[in-house]
Order: sequence, then structure tokens, then C-alpha cells
Amino acid sequence: VAPSETPGTFRPQLWLGVVYHPEHWPEERWSEDVHLMTEAGLTVARLADCAWATLEPAAGQFNFGWLDRAIALLAEAGISTVLGSSNFAPPGWLVRQCPDLLAKDPTGRCAQLGASYHGCINSPVFQAAVARLVSAMAQHFGPNPDVIGWQIDSESKQDCYCPRCQAGFRRYLAERHVSIEVFNRRWVRGCRGEAYSDWEQVTIPFGQYNPVLTLDFARFVTHTCRQFQRLQIELLRPHLRPDVWIAGSPAGWNGDHDPYTLAEDTDYASSAFCTVSERHDHRSTGALRALARGVKRRNFWILDTEASMSGGAVAKCALHKDELQALVWQAVAHGADGVLCWQWRPAPAGVDQHHITLVDQSGQPRPFFEEVKLLGLEFNALSNWVAGSTTAKARVAILNSCDSRWVFEGQRHQTGFSYVEHLEHWYRPLAARNVAVDIIPPDGNLDQYKMVIAPALSVLDDKIVGSLTELVRHSGHLVLTIRTGTRDEHNALFPLRQPGPLRTIAGVEVEDYYSLDEPVPVKGNWFEGVSRQWAERLRILDPNKAVKIARYGTSNGWLDNEIAITVCAQGTGLTYMVGAYLDVAAQQAMVDHFLQNAGLQKIDAPPGVEVCIRVMPDGKQLYVVINHERSPATVTLPSPAQNPLTDQAVTGPFRLAPYGVAVLLRAQPPQTSTV
Ligand SMILES: [Zn+2]
Repeated sequence: VAPSETPGTFRPQLWLGVVYHPEHWPEERWSEDVHLMTEAGLTVARLADCAWATLEPAAGQFNFGWLDRAIALLAEAGISTVLGSSNFAPPGWLVRQCPDLLAKDPTGRCAQLGASYHGCINSPVFQAAVARLVSAMAQHFGPNPDVIGWQIDSESKQDCYCPRCQAGFRRYLAERHVSIEVFNRRWVRGCRGEAYSDWEQVTIPFGQYNPVLTLDFARFVTHTCRQFQRLQIELLRPHLRPDVWIAGSPAGWNGDHDPYTLAEDTDYASSAFCTVSERHDHRSTGALRALARGVKRRNFWILDTEASMSGGAVAKCALHKDELQALVWQAVAHGADGVLCWQWRPAPAGVDQHHITLVDQSGQPRPFFEEVKLLGLEFNALSNWVAGSTTAKARVAILNSCDSRWVFEGQRHQTGFSYVEHLEHWYRPLAARNVAVDIIPPDGNLDQYKMVIAPALSVLDDKIVGSLTELVRHSGHLVLTIRTGTRDEHNALFPLRQPGPLRTIAGVEVEDYYSLDEPVPVKGNWFEGVSRQWAERLRILDPNKAVKIARYGTSNGWLDNEIAITVCAQGTGLTYMVGAYLDVAAQQAMVDHFLQNAGLQKIDAPPGVEVCIRVMPDGKQLYVVINHERSPATVTLPSPAQNPLTDQAVTGPFRLAPYGVAVLLRAQPPQTSTV
């Protein structure tokens, strides 16, 4: 994968912006909005993210004048535009014309107009209407020099159970599994009397169902979303200048989307909201950004993020005062070239009334508008330094297996087990040491990585097994965790003990596994702690290659004094097998040791302080130092640096304000760019 050059943008620039809906407000108000945006230092606005009914008030009658005027008004103020393909909410006239295009739930009930995402993306009528709108928009706005990028909606109702989708699913299966006999062998093997003699008998699974069918349905959803996205890209691309980029729907841990597959046809990955549930968790957000970064292994855009408080109908926690600065700079530190807040002003009606905005319902700036203004000043001042730079090349990858995630979402096996939380449990100790990480798909190229962590990599195919074996043969360090190697690519259990076909390089097998109701002690060579939720009892297959790193203490009898963690050598490569789900402190101690064994550099910083590196086109490095805490922090960087704006040297400890950020130019050239 060619890393890191910035596709698209007219000139290298660090973009700060907002999602704006001028169509919600009288045109007389727009100049006031644009004036306030200029005051905040915004440089980009995303328009028409959901404006189909306004853009095409009746079939084939396009009303683009308002959008032309809004783009021009913004451009006069130096604000560029990103346009949405605007199709995830088919308008009332279209639904009335063809009610059949509404998506259906498993009971056959239709989705409702007004809810968004109510169209079935496999409906030919819906597709034709989308194609007509996108073609017209492409011809009209494609040549507009003020439009710098497009976002394609690819996630109109995905899990539709209408007869069309049922038929499409059957066709997908027939192509994938060749014959009904092969399909039966792979899928059901006669379990619970389930067997099929004709494709017509197969239906889309819902609820508790055969996990094999559920996994193939998740893949089908990604497949159809990609086709729907491609339909739009193919209509759009011929009308765009070469420097105009196309991004898709945000990459995240969402539903039946494989973000890696969806991003194959786009220029940029996009990222969105943090996964705020309670208090904002910057490590969790860091993992989300590492995922966006790993999607195309290059910089990305954040097309909508919380500016303060998250949530629509139900407001979730608000960011603290000044925390927006840390959140936005963290995105940049991880590779964002542009950050857009959601959204400008509350929708006067409809489902977006309660999303947080920069100006309130009265049109007046909210108190945190001052923070956005500060960000605008910072982005403007530092754009020449940061724009065009990329993140430092990561030497550590975490494998994000959508197949495995879907399998666990279908069957957790252990009540509290979450694939994403488990993945984050491996991301956090790396982030605490400021080690750059790419979160990539399991079949991705591993050449650049010294260490690869495969959390709960349950589903394996020959390609993945081959690639991980090659990694270890070429001196790589592989970390396997609980639940690994249980299933083949069709989600059938391997007729092997875990970690299935990875036993050869792991040098161990799992004799049995235990869902835990209370923590089990684990004593390692360099740490002591407990395993929670889950524990796997390991048996060494080849004592000449594999050795024990940790044992369980006294607990349920089955685990007493049994092996919890091992390492197996193959030449200069290593495979760790971690059968315990360790507590936070033990996990950190263990990962620290793994990093040391792999000779990977880390950057020490106080807890809550994150240090990332962006590399400029000439090889110079920028430290982006972020304090994620509500109290001040004192930081010492591993090498001298200077403030790029003042040339002031920073050689010793320096202070960061609560949620404060420093962008500093590393004074000495690095010996290797491997952090
Ligand atoms: Zn459908």
C-alpha cells in the first residue's frame, strides 16, 4: 500500500469546519452564519448531507440554485465546500411514487419516511432515483472550483428483509458457495435438522439463528453497501477535477460494515463521532482514529465529530471546558487532514433537533464557540507545518477482524465479552507508551510491522494463517489472545483445538476454556495480576520451542497452576499466546515487556498525556503533545524541540495547561523513524 500522500486537496492545508444546513434557514440569515464561521476561523463546510427533498422537490426537477448561492457565499469568505451525495433519506414524493422502495424489518413492517435510512438500497427504483440525483449533482457541482471533496452515503438501510434483498442474498450465496451441496456442507451439516435442497428455501437470518448464516449475511450487507457506493462514485468521478476527493461513510465499529472493504473505492477514509457513552474516553477515541488511519494507511478526514456534547434524542456527556482542543488535536495527531464538527445550528424540526451545535437555536454562539475560534487560530498558524505531513510509520499493528467481530456480536459466548472492548484492551497499553499503531484488516500487508497483535482472531482463512506465519518467519512478533483460531472462514468450528491452524507457530494448544464468574490469579515472570471474564488453559506442544510466561493461581480447580501465557520461538520470530484476559496493570506490564523484546521505541509521558509524531515531506518531525486531563501536566520530550512559530527552544520539562496541546518541531533529525 502506498502510504500517506494526501490525495485531493488543492493545496496542503489543515482544514477546520462544520456541517452546515443552509436549507433550514431563511437566506437572509446565511451571511450572518458565514460571518460567524469566518470569525471562528473555519475553512470548510459540509453541505447537502441530507437535502434530497430540497435538491429535487419533484421527480427530475432539480433545485440547485440555493446550494450554488450557499457555496458561493462561503467561498467569498474563504470557506471551501464538501458536498454529500444526499441520498440516505429518499423524499416523500419518491416514497409515494414507489412505496415498495421502503426497507422492511424481519416482520415485513416498512421503515418510515422521516426516520432517515428508510430506503432499501437493493431497490432498482431507489437506485435509479439516486443515480439521477447524483448524476445531476455531479454535472452541476463537479466543475465548481469551490467544492473540494464529496462524501458518499453508503449506509442507507442495510439490514432490509424485503423479498428483493432475500433474493439478492440467495444470489450472493449461490455465487459464493457454488452449489447447494457445498453450501449445506459448509453451513449447516444437518445440525438441528437444517438442510436445504434449493436456494429458494434460504432466508435472511434474524434473532438467534445459525451463526454461519448470520456471518454470511453481514458480509452480504457490506457487499451491497459497496455496490451502492460504487454506483454513485462511477457517476460522480468523471465530472470531478483530479484534485477533488471522494470519501465514504465513516469508518468505525458499526454494524455490518467492513470499513476496509467499503474504503477500497474511495480516496479518503472518513471518521466520525467518538464512541462517547459516559465520560469521554480519549483512549477509545484514539483507537477509533487508529482505525481510520489503518483503513487506507494514510491520512483521513473527520467529517463530523462532537463539538461538545454527543447524542441526538438522548444527550450524552458533554466535553469539559477546553477539552475540544485536545479532542481535535488528537485527531490531527493521528492523521486527520480535516476536522468538521457536527453541526452548525440545531435543526428547527426533525430528528437532529438535539444534536450539539456551534450556535444555538437562537443563532447565537454557544460559550464553547470561543474554543472553536482558538482552534481556528491554531489551525491557521500551524497549517504550513502540519499540512502535507503524515503520521510516523507504525511498527505495530492491531488486526481488526470484522468477521470475528460479527461472530461475537452474534454469539458472545461469555455474557460480558465485547470484541471491540477486547481490541481496545490491547490498544490502551500501547497508547499509554505513545507507540504508533495501525488498526488494519487481518488479511492486510504486514511488511512494515515488527509486532502484530491479533485480538480474539476467531475466524481464520488460509491467507491470514499464511500471512501470520510469514510474519513470524521474518522475525516478526505475533501476539495471539483468547478466543483465537476457533472457526474457519465459513464460521464452522475447526476440528482442531485452538488456536486451530496457528498451533504450529504458537507451539501450544488450548486444552479448555472457562467463562469466569470471578477473577482468577495469574502469576507471570514479570507481572502478577488476575484474569477476568475468560481464561484458557494452555498445553505446550513443543517444549524445545515454546515456554511458559505465566501460570494461573488457585481458583476453580481446573485452572490451578495451569499455563496461562506462553511464547514460542521460530528463528528470530516469536509468537505469544495469551490465554488470560488480564487486568489493566498486568496487561500494561506484559505489553511493556513485549515492546522491549521487540526493540520498539516508546515515548514516556505522564498518564493522560499523549505524544504523537507527524512527519513532514522533508523528513522533519513534529511532536503533537496533548494533555487529556483536567489538570496541568509537565512533559519532557525524548529529544530537544522548538516552537515552529517562535523558534523558541524546548529542551527541558514544559507545562501543558488542562487539555492543552503543544505542536513542536523536533530539533534533531531522528536516527530512525520507527516510533
Ligand atoms: Zn430490501
